[in-house]
Amino acid sequence: MHKSLIAAAMPLAMLFSHAVVGNVVKNVKPILMGKNPKLPKIAIVTTGGTIAVKKDENGVAMLALSGKELITAVPGLLRRANVELYSFCKEASGRIKPEVWLRLAKLIDKLVKRPDISGVIVTHGTDTMAEAAFFVNACISTKKPVVFVGAMRNASEGSPDGPENMLNAVVQIMSPNAKDWGVTVTLNQFVNSAYNVRKGNTNNVETFNSGEHGYLGYITTGKVFKYNRSIQDFCIGMPEKLETRVELFMNYTGCDGEAIRHATDIGMKGLVVEGVGSGNVNEDVYDAIKYAMNKGVIVVVATSVPDGPVLPIYGGPGGGATLVKEGVILSRYLRARKARLLLMLALSNKMSKDKIAKLFE
Ligand code: ASP
Repeated sequence: MHKSLIAAAMPLAMLFSHAVVGNVVKNVKPILMGKNPKLPKIAIVTTGGTIAVKKDENGVAMLALSGKELITAVPGLLRRANVELYSFCKEASGRIKPEVWLRLAKLIDKLVKRPDISGVIVTHGTDTMAEAAFFVNACISTKKPVVFVGAMRNASEGSPDGPENMLNAVVQIMSPNAKDWGVTVTLNQFVNSAYNVRKGNTNNVETFNSGEHGYLGYITTGKVFKYNRSIQDFCIGMPEKLETRVELFMNYTGCDGEAIRHATDIGMKGLVVEGVGSGNVNEDVYDAIKYAMNKGVIVVVATSVPDGPVLPIYGGPGGGATLVKEGVILSRYLRARKARLLLMLALSNKMSKDKIAKLFE
């Protein structure tokens, strides 16, 4: 970034987010739907997203459906389970801050610890669902299913996918084949682990995938088929409060690293740089990273490449091997957005640098 542009960009790019905004309901009171003593009980926590969207009179897609409406739109749901409904918030997911995810994680943690709850469904916008599920996964440890669902087609479209996705989440919670997966993102019949999932298409119902790590399973005809036995219980602990002064910068071609220096000067505690290839940055960014580390910032380098491990292969200024020698942590598998959330949680949990480095292996 050229220096002249930095001053203009800073107020937007560098504001650390302390305040919780958005329609989060404080002390959400549950609504009970269904009282059949023969049925198991599940919790559904609604947060907004396309699954709760309808077109308004001007044809604009707007958040509209209440939690109750979401559930009654799913034929047969209440014949399979009694529901404890928590209308947590109603937001486009790109507006939800990590502090809100922390509150969500605390609510889910309480719910999964209750013996009468078989599992939790979280309805969420797909834009940041992969990150939200990862965040919750890192905060809680549970063998009960916590299933993030959403929709790519809103409720006004010809064939909305939300109701089917909700029903599949119920199937997953009830299935003996789907135990021990912890937090998943389940859309379009595919089950993804919170750790590996990523959004792969802006518009298509088949948007979530887990890249080279593969889907966990597939849901059809009311059953779950297990594809993958790897369990990603990745809990590092629930912090009381979040350290939000953790920034994410991209190492683009010609990037001069000035933004990193500025963020350091105004109090950044942790930094994730989205590098290139197997985990390399350019020389100016390398110098800026050293500047940040000299002032106590913990630095993690990830990559912009979707698949493959990040490894300390190259020497020279900014090469992955040099970065490691200087004390940078390489994010072996987690890509930059999730790496930032993990670093944020690790710093919030007051973990040592050595322990943090292990988390990224
Ligand atoms: N903009 C929406 C959201 O993430 C998109 C979606 O839900 O698919 O809230």
